[in-house]
Amino acid sequence: MNSLFINIQPIYLIYFFYGAAFLIMAASIAAKDMKGSELMLAKSLRLLGLFGLSHGFHEWMQLYPLIEGDHLSLRAIYISKLAALIVFIVSYLFLLWFGLTLINGVSEKRVWRIARTVPVLLAVVWVLHVWYTGFTMDMQFLRQASIATRHTFGLFGSLLTAYGLTAYSREVGYLSRTAARNLAYAGASFGFYGFVAGVVSSGFTLFRFPIPVEVLRGAAGILITYFIIKALNIFDVEMRKKIELQTRRIVQAEKLTSLGQLAAGIAHEINNPLANASLGIQTLKRRISGDRMDGSVLDKLELVERNIDRAAGIARELLQFSRQQEVDVMPVHVNAVLRGTLTLLEYKLKGVSVRQDLHPVPSVMGDAGKLEQVFINVLSNAVEAMPQGGSMSIATSVEGSFVQVRVDDSGSGIPEELLSRVFDPFFTTKDVGAGTGLGLAICYGIVKQHHGTIELRSTAGKGTTVIIRLPRREDDEKDIDRG
Ligand code: ADP
Ligand code: MG
Repeated sequence: MNSLFINIQPIYLIYFFYGAAFLIMAASIAAKDMKGSELMLAKSLRLLGLFGLSHGFHEWMQLYPLIEGDHLSLRAIYISKLAALIVFIVSYLFLLWFGLTLINGVSEKRVWRIARTVPVLLAVVWVLHVWYTGFTMDMQFLRQASIATRHTFGLFGSLLTAYGLTAYSREVGYLSRTAARNLAYAGASFGFYGFVAGVVSSGFTLFRFPIPVEVLRGAAGILITYFIIKALNIFDVEMRKKIELQTRRIVQAEKLTSLGQLAAGIAHEINNPLANASLGIQTLKRRISGDRMDGSVLDKLELVERNIDRAAGIARELLQFSRQQEVDVMPVHVNAVLRGTLTLLEYKLKGVSVRQDLHPVPSVMGDAGKLEQVFINVLSNAVEAMPQGGSMSIATSVEGSFVQVRVDDSGSGIPEELLSRVFDPFFTTKDVGAGTGLGLAICYGIVKQHHGTIELRSTAGKGTTVIIRLPRREDDEKDIDRG
């Protein structure tokens, strides 16, 4: 026990704290309740925890021969160092794995294709590196193998993780900007760590600073732990938002049901007088043209007729929104409907760059005509939000038992306080005549009839994301619409 205080040099305290930092990170990750999280991070974070655990443990293992060195045989020291080396390699493999899962989750296929070849290359370089120094199982070998590990798995594990965390932080910005920022900082800390732990060898001082590299590694470890622990908050935010969203959905459903009944009643009541008025106008027009009367009277009548048509149009849309009738269901290929909609809207899409990411998805049971109406509304809204032009992306994917359609636009966005009202009938921010405010209300009704969900996420000034999910056909493994 005494020897701990007699033999230990200040630098070894660094090993202790450096190890402790990673162990604390591992403990924090293990203690975090991530059940029910839909974030990709929830699944991969366990790997970072395992890295923390094994890496922290490795640092402490290194202390052992340093502290007890005087009492140990050379053989015992060798074995303890060999064990530490194995734990060291394993820890960096966990880190590499973690970085790769992040990259697989967030990156384009191209980046992922390059990234996933990294482990094989590293293994080859590692073997060559060790081979080069000769394969004599002595202390020198252990030292060389440890350097080889730093230069390969250590460096690239850190760099891939740094890239992965930074890229991933952009994906979760919508949930919590603070958490996203902390993830990005953790990524930057990993970049720094990759340099001091992966490039610079132990025992060196950096540049002209009189700071041993171990101190910098310790600092990087503490920074990583600090930012990761702060970023863990994202799971609480996610849970809170989920509950809020659920509450909002229930309130919305109730509101729209009662509004729907009201709207249907009004539409019926208005439709009859409108039909009568329209008939009257027809009769008048026939008479007048028979009498060859003044053209201006005919013009006026046509104006009246157009206005009646417009009112009837609104009444029709109202009915559509509120109608609870069954839809005509049959297997529908969502990608095909989307492509059809895009063709239909071609004239509107000038000045907007459209990116299509239509992945092979199973068909859904639904009414193609109604689904088209949903897409027309959503895409029109996106275009209308970008009067100065912009970009829009349309993507389909499979999410569990749902087929998901995601439409992103770079338009004006919707202020947070209005977001809960966009599905309300007659809620519009557009000029009189430009919008009726019925589009999304109708979409909501149709999607609900399909037992799906529709959700809007938006940041004012940046753009809007609409996510529509429709249940996939169950007996439909083969019937996949390939892009
Ligand atoms: P309308 O388009 O007739 O106004 P909607 O029900 O389609 O009615 O949309 C309601 C409101 O929601 C719009 O007026 C607009 O303020 C907002 N909105 C919907 N989609 C978007 C979008 N992609 N970008 C910005 N605002 C949107
Ligand atoms: Mg609209």
